Amino acid sequence: MIIIPENAVAELVTPSDCLKAVEEVFASMANKSAYNFPVIREAIGQADALYGFKSGFDRKSLALGLKSGGFWPNNTSRGLTNHQSTIFLFDADTGKCRAVVGGNLLTALRTAAASAISIKYLARKDAKVLGMIGAGHQSTFQLRAALQQRQFEKVVAWNFHPEMLCRLEQVANDEGLPFEAVDLDHLGAESDVIISITSSFAPVLKAAQVRPGTHLACMGTDTKGKQEVEAELVGIAKVFTDDIAQAVTIGECQHAVERGIITKDTIIEIGAVIGGANHGRSSADEITLFDGTGIALQDLAVASVAVDLALAKGVAIEIDF
Ligand code: NAD
Repeated sequence: MIIIPENAVAELVTPSDCLKAVEEVFASMANKSAYNFPVIREAIGQADALYGFKSGFDRKSLALGLKSGGFWPNNTSRGLTNHQSTIFLFDADTGKCRAVVGGNLLTALRTAAASAISIKYLARKDAKVLGMIGAGHQSTFQLRAALQQRQFEKVVAWNFHPEMLCRLEQVANDEGLPFEAVDLDHLGAESDVIISITSSFAPVLKAAQVRPGTHLACMGTDTKGKQEVEAELVGIAKVFTDDIAQAVTIGECQHAVERGIITKDTIIEIGAVIGGANHGRSSADEITLFDGTGIALQDLAVASVAVDLALAKGVAIEIDF
């Protein structure tokens, strides 16, 4: 069995490796050669933690396994990251454990890859202003990946805790772009692309604040009850997702579906756009919305890349298990 500790991942895997792996597995889902199993996520009644696991199988790459972990809100006081995850890969022919891979950095990279892929395929080609809602741990990864997809000229941002916005300003400045902290009216009026990556349980962005032609990547809602945008905004958008079953249960679409504003059969998996079965954005005025719920297949794809690279570079830690 191969072990890739968390602290070895950064040296092995690049954001572009992750983008390629995630794009490929989204396309495999559209071909029905890869699928996710139902997600388990529970409040365990210990340390206020939310624990769960996501699992799946890609018949094409034979990536089989799961990501286990969750959110431990008191970890910061212990000098640990609040979000903890580990990815386990199994041999699809024998069931033997093939690898254990630290999943914290990989989660941030695969999540950023998903929204970047949505921008690549769904945002207007002439998008110039990127709006960020959220400034937590994931946000800088999201911003860096998004900036690779279009010739953005400016970053505007809003956060529930405004003091955290300086980390986004730093990334924008590193990329040579102007940065402005704005209110949500201003953010919606100016942005061509908006990424939301918060842990909100109530709508932050309203339909009336978003202008025609905007692409939204809603990335924070990954649990029942969470919500980042008004359900009416989902209702006026052409809606795409990583996985329809997850979108309607734990994703941003859950609220619009519950209220009968949209139906499940109108949601399009992004893999269909990558594979060419769906043409994506229909016009320059259309609002497109990607509901990125975070799927096991993303985790398995990027963990497999880490294992392959560790083997190729001769740095894999192998144990008899
Ligand atoms: P974090 O704890 O580092 O940051 C939380 C963010 O939410 C901050 O910007 C904070 O200011 C904001 N926030 C907190 N309370 C809020 C409220 N009441 N209203 C609006 N905003 C509020 O978390 P993170 O690691 O950056 O993750 C952000 C979200 O993304 C979480 O909900 C997490 O579960 C989710 N996530 C999704 C995926 C995916 O694949 N879709 C992957 C990883 C994380």
